[in-house]
Amino acid sequence: MPYTVHEASERILAPIRPLGAELVALRDAHGRVLAEDILSPIEHPPWDNSSMDGYAVRAPDVAGASVAAPVRLRVLETVRAGQRPSQPLLPQTAIRVMTGAPIPAGADTVIRVEDTDAGEDTVEIRDARDAGRNVRPRGEDLRPGVVAVPRGMTIGAAQLGVLASVGCVEVPVHRRPRVAVLSSGDELVDVGDFDAVRRGDRIVSSNSYTIAAGVLEAGGEVVDLGIVPDDPDAYVDRLTAARGCDLLVTTGGVSVGAFDFTKDVLKSLGAELHLWRIRMRPGAPLGFGMLKEMPWLGLPGNPVSAMVTFELFGKPLIRKQRGESRLFRRPIEVRAREEITIAAPLTHFLRAVVSFESDGAWACLTGPQGSGLLTSMARANALLVVPAERPVVRAGEALSALPLSDAGYSASFEL
Ligand code: AMP
Ligand code: MG
Repeated sequence: MPYTVHEASERILAPIRPLGAELVALRDAHGRVLAEDILSPIEHPPWDNSSMDGYAVRAPDVAGASVAAPVRLRVLETVRAGQRPSQPLLPQTAIRVMTGAPIPAGADTVIRVEDTDAGEDTVEIRDARDAGRNVRPRGEDLRPGVVAVPRGMTIGAAQLGVLASVGCVEVPVHRRPRVAVLSSGDELVDVGDFDAVRRGDRIVSSNSYTIAAGVLEAGGEVVDLGIVPDDPDAYVDRLTAARGCDLLVTTGGVSVGAFDFTKDVLKSLGAELHLWRIRMRPGAPLGFGMLKEMPWLGLPGNPVSAMVTFELFGKPLIRKQRGESRLFRRPIEVRAREEITIAAPLTHFLRAVVSFESDGAWACLTGPQGSGLLTSMARANALLVVPAERPVVRAGEALSALPLSDAGYSASFEL
């Protein structure tokens, strides 16, 4: 009995563990997942500092200052960011400070330069609104021993900046999975042999490109095993190149055709089959197993089936290996623009264009939904999920959709 989509996801992810840690240079850590808590060894900022270009003063000295009744103070010195004041602030004086410069002892206020005459020897304060403000206390952002970035966090731009701030020059991150990608089929050639396609003998192995790109999108590294004919010996031979990889992804040859050898080859190598066939369309004939330590995901050959199953099961697997805790795309609620009927009691993942209108998100199908029609995938920005128990969905009814890569972007600035 085939598995539901949900069961299949659970069975595939159950044996998968995050890969071990490695140290990478800070610049290479972007997009990786932190394998250990990183503690701050320092206080940051390291000194009380000014959040304004202006004048450090004592609040009582500027009380009541206004344009009509300005307060004039002697300026003791100018301190830039990167310098230190050479003296404490005396009563009835000011020290000119730039943003980030240390606040002199005795000051509790920085009057912004816009509220002064910008004087260098003496300064006229024309507004007291900054009294008691514009001093950023030392240690406000980080204190020694606090977790600056927690393990399990994906390192984006902000995390990278925090790691830099606390001196983390080498970052412990989960290893990126090395993913072997192999396409099988006698009819396949690489794009370099396009003459064979023009002659009408062959088709290009588009899966070699879609799945490799999907591996990169999920954060894995691709080990391209190329194309293998429908010949078990050649298949076994080619799989030796997958040694040392963290995942093997094959496409094709996993259905019930007379030349569908993938499962047999994997079994002959000692693989344990955990799953075969899912109650979904496209993508029903999907295989999953463990070849000793290495998981194997056997995607169907049809180009749309391969992409959809890789999106649903392959990307979460790779994300789990690379230490991510959020593995799955979050579905969004959309309404169908048109009536949709599904012919078989299977969960359908239909190629759709979701547009965000003033009255919510709407989904239009991209057109014919055959699992060989890769252009339908290229036009789609979402997979519209039609459950098996809803053979007819009327226009305007709500459904879930899984956004594909660009669905979150807008052509206009909508804020
Ligand atoms: P299979 O899963 O091997 O039965 O293949 C199903 C369909 O997908 C057939 O029409 C194949 O020609 C096609 N196909 C299989 N592998 C690929 C591939 N790597 N690229 C493009 N189409 C493929
Ligand atoms: Mg085939």
